Amino acid sequence: MTTDCAADVLICGAGAAGLTLAIELARRGVSFRLIERMEKPFHGSRGKGIQPRTQEIFEDLGILDRLVASGGPYPPMRVYGADGSRLEKDLSEGAEPSPAEPYHVALMVPQFLTERIMRERLAELGGHVEFGCELVGFEQDEKGVIARLASSAGQETIRCRYLAGADGGRSFVRETLGVEFPGKTLGVRAIVADIALTGLGRDVWHQFNEGDFERMVAICPLAGTGLFQLQSPVPAEGEVDLSAQGIGRLIAHRTGCRDVQVQSVAWASAYVMNARLAGRYRVGRVFLVGDAAHIHPPTGGQGLNTSVQDAYNLGWKLSAVLGGADNELLDTYEAERRPVAEAMLGLSTRLLDAQMQGRMQRGREVRQLDIGYPDSPLSRQLVERNGSLRSGARAPDAPILGAAGQPSRLFQLFKGTHWTLLMDAAGTEPPPRRPGLHVHRIGPCGDVIDAWGCVRDAFELAPGECVLIRPDGYIGAFVTLGGERTRKLARYLGHVGVGRPGEDPQ
Ligand SMILES: Cc1cc2nc3c(=O)[nH]c(=O)nc-3n(C[C@H](O)[C@H](O)[C@H](O)COP(=O)(O)OP(=O)(O)OC[C@H]3O[C@@H](n4cnc5c(N)ncnc54)[C@H](O)[C@@H]3O)c2cc1C
Repeated sequence: MTTDCAADVLICGAGAAGLTLAIELARRGVSFRLIERMEKPFHGSRGKGIQPRTQEIFEDLGILDRLVASGGPYPPMRVYGADGSRLEKDLSEGAEPSPAEPYHVALMVPQFLTERIMRERLAELGGHVEFGCELVGFEQDEKGVIARLASSAGQETIRCRYLAGADGGRSFVRETLGVEFPGKTLGVRAIVADIALTGLGRDVWHQFNEGDFERMVAICPLAGTGLFQLQSPVPAEGEVDLSAQGIGRLIAHRTGCRDVQVQSVAWASAYVMNARLAGRYRVGRVFLVGDAAHIHPPTGGQGLNTSVQDAYNLGWKLSAVLGGADNELLDTYEAERRPVAEAMLGLSTRLLDAQMQGRMQRGREVRQLDIGYPDSPLSRQLVERNGSLRSGARAPDAPILGAAGQPSRLFQLFKGTHWTLLMDAAGTEPPPRRPGLHVHRIGPCGDVIDAWGCVRDAFELAPGECVLIRPDGYIGAFVTLGGERTRKLARYLGHVGVGRPGEDPQ
């Protein structure tokens, strides 16, 4: 039996990508089903590094403070030399927060805690994960997708308008679509294990045998838990003993530390590192999101972050198109996100090579703050400008005062599902007024006071110039208002589904 349009969007897979997409749809009132074939939540720590750009996104989604409360900062890394020396490295590498970039270092939260907090946020928004429900087949036509689901209750066939395959590296959705997944197996096999142990302090990330990759052992205290995460390469072939005794023997053999005792293993996995990128992110009404679209080594902690950001990019676009925006808006998902994944694959593979040679150095690029979409069809330069910031760039934060005197931040103005137009309060041309567009005037007579000059420094707006910020925090366009320029802005807004064209003053 086919249920008539059971939901607008079917999300297959409730990892970080699927949960982000569900939150994005839920807070826009889009109907969806989020299915997960596992009977209960995944309980491993895998993607424990939340990068600064993802922290900004989690602030927008309303979960950052909960994540910080559940996790913690990365401790310094202690490198144990073969000669008995100990070298401590600060992983922040001198980065400092700034008004434009409030989060400057990675936050550590085990992935199972991140996902738990996301499920809690989803519940607040009225959504939930259907555990024990597997996508086992689908077809699509011009109007929608017909999907077959299997659960302990039996089989169900549903119709939805779009399907998002957020179903991980071995994606069933990708395989069913026949989308190629080219790339390479990197010839490295490793274990990751969440373990309880005695004999090592929780104040540092213990790193043994740096520069001797095959014998490397990294043991990191997992913030928010009493556990440690162990990561270590293992031989490409053969059984790996993931029991407490087996992991204890590996640690003793490779580090020579006889006093480290592994008490128990909460979760462990042996995996082979790959770097692969899906040939397409969209086939008709079906999209690939997160690890379903890209897999790569864990070096640099990019995977979960990139997966969350894929979903954050797709969510508002799906909602806009379901609300009447141009269908081509959905093509910009692949146009924007695939190049990001391509660059990230290169980065994590380079970091793996560096780690193998014992000279791993994480730089600014792992923080993902410079990711942008300058070449996207959505990035419009509707005015010649002198400022260095360009359309497609991440919109910076800045401390501000509200006209009533209360301290605030630009990110507070951007928070939510709307678009934002920031304009110079001295401008006399009327701004467009549409549902879904928040307009703020900056200046002594505006509703936003740039008390510290940080908005000026970040955006370098010329007198009368405005900047349009997308719901996902990227700059859609710089514009000046008046006549044809206002009409261009109105066409742009209509294209992306903001309000209805024809409502503007000109
Ligand atoms: C050792 C290690 C360390 C890592 N460290 C980091 C890090 O520090 N930072 C970082 O950003 N990333 C890190 N990662 C990567 C990160 O874990 C992944 O990128 C992330 O989990 C991807 O999320 P996802 O939602 O796309 O996929 P997944 O987490 O794989 O979720 C996909 C879900 O889909 C479900 N599913 C599959 N098929 C079906 C189906 N047919 N029907 C229904 N459900 C289905 C699966 O059960 C699964 O729950 C690390 C990974 C490893 C292995």
